[in-house]
Amino acid sequence: MSLVTQLTCVQCGAEYAEGAAMTCPRCGMDEGILDVQFDLERAARTLTRTALARRPPSHWRYLELLPVEAECCQAVATIGWTPLLEAPRLAEALGIGRLRLKDDGRSASGSFKDRASSVGVARALREGVKSIACASTGNAASSLAHCAAAAGLQANIFVSQIVPAGKLAQLLAYGARVFKIQGTYAQAYDLCTQACEHFGWYNRSAAINPYLMEGKKTGGLELAEQCADDPPDWVVCSVGDGCSIAGVQKGLAQMKAVGVVKWDARLLGVQAAGVAPIAEAFETGRLDRNGAGDTYADSINVPVPRNWRKAVNAVRNSGGAYVTTTDEQIMRAVLLTGRLTGIFAEPAAATAVAGIAVARAQGLLNKRSSVVALITGNGLKDIDGALRAVGQPHEIPPNLDQVVRIVEADTAAS
Ligand SMILES: *Cc1c(COP(=O)(O)O)cnc(C)c1O
Repeated sequence: MSLVTQLTCVQCGAEYAEGAAMTCPRCGMDEGILDVQFDLERAARTLTRTALARRPPSHWRYLELLPVEAECCQAVATIGWTPLLEAPRLAEALGIGRLRLKDDGRSASGSFKDRASSVGVARALREGVKSIACASTGNAASSLAHCAAAAGLQANIFVSQIVPAGKLAQLLAYGARVFKIQGTYAQAYDLCTQACEHFGWYNRSAAINPYLMEGKKTGGLELAEQCADDPPDWVVCSVGDGCSIAGVQKGLAQMKAVGVVKWDARLLGVQAAGVAPIAEAFETGRLDRNGAGDTYADSINVPVPRNWRKAVNAVRNSGGAYVTTTDEQIMRAVLLTGRLTGIFAEPAAATAVAGIAVARAQGLLNKRSSVVALITGNGLKDIDGALRAVGQPHEIPPNLDQVVRIVEADTAAS
């Protein structure tokens, strides 16, 4: 049985019973985002470190803090419990004391979004719905298509024109019905909402569905458990809609509230300079709803984010900060991360690494800082984007002299 107590509006604080609303009717769909509350005292009785040590290595291990029933989880096998990897050479290149990478690029569909989609599918199963839908620039869609296929639900996906080929191929391979909208992402989003109302589909669009952030929260829950005796100073996450970083902060805070850990970490939110409405709202206190712009990191290209308030509050409550990075810095981070850790990150994931370099240059981080960065997506999802960052092969005739010439030139240069 779920330990959800109520839903609270992040704007006006009004409280609603579970199932009573998807967004706050008083504040409207744009601002009235809800936050799911749990009975943390009851959760603390069973969610202990000893109990956790005996649970399966997936994000369902935190059942007490998830808005799902145990039976519904079985349908979407194992998501989560991704590894936390030491990255000493990358730490040195960035000029910080220690860096660990939590690699969600090796999640089932290759991104952090699997955490949210699996909870969305578990919720849909609980409500007895057979079809589920979302509007997405890519990863939310491919993860939903994956989880729906695993659970035997029909997925309906609304994508914009800028979806990379790798992500589109995933959708079609997982058997989703894909609508590629001749318009903007905002239009794809609105059309998805209309279609869900028309057909009664379950709406996974993370932005307004408060339960999805609870899935993303598992990134923070896991991180807390993985670092229980060895806390980082900072946790770094790239930010698009704002749901991921808010979820991670909530996960860390809840693990402290239930007594599994005793520490807090500061959050560093990283946005691409071309599309940085949340970083701006962190300074000004308000969202520019006429936001435009563009970035190479397609998964965080969200000009008008719906979860901006949660994302601003999460970073503020942690005593953290926002930074922005140029597309050139992001490309460099794709290359550095691959070369110095063996992890192939998609541009939006490498943005977190780029943000560390910026924060170090600004003095937010220093040479002793211990940092965890979330690698939120796999580089194979966007091959064209990756190739823009990583250079070209040596094209040569089948001739050893040519190989020798290139190796000698490389050796001389290093
Ligand atoms: C969605 C996404 C993000 C950002 O998450 P938001 O909830 O939109 O802020 C970061 N990286 C990748 C790879 C993503 O797919």
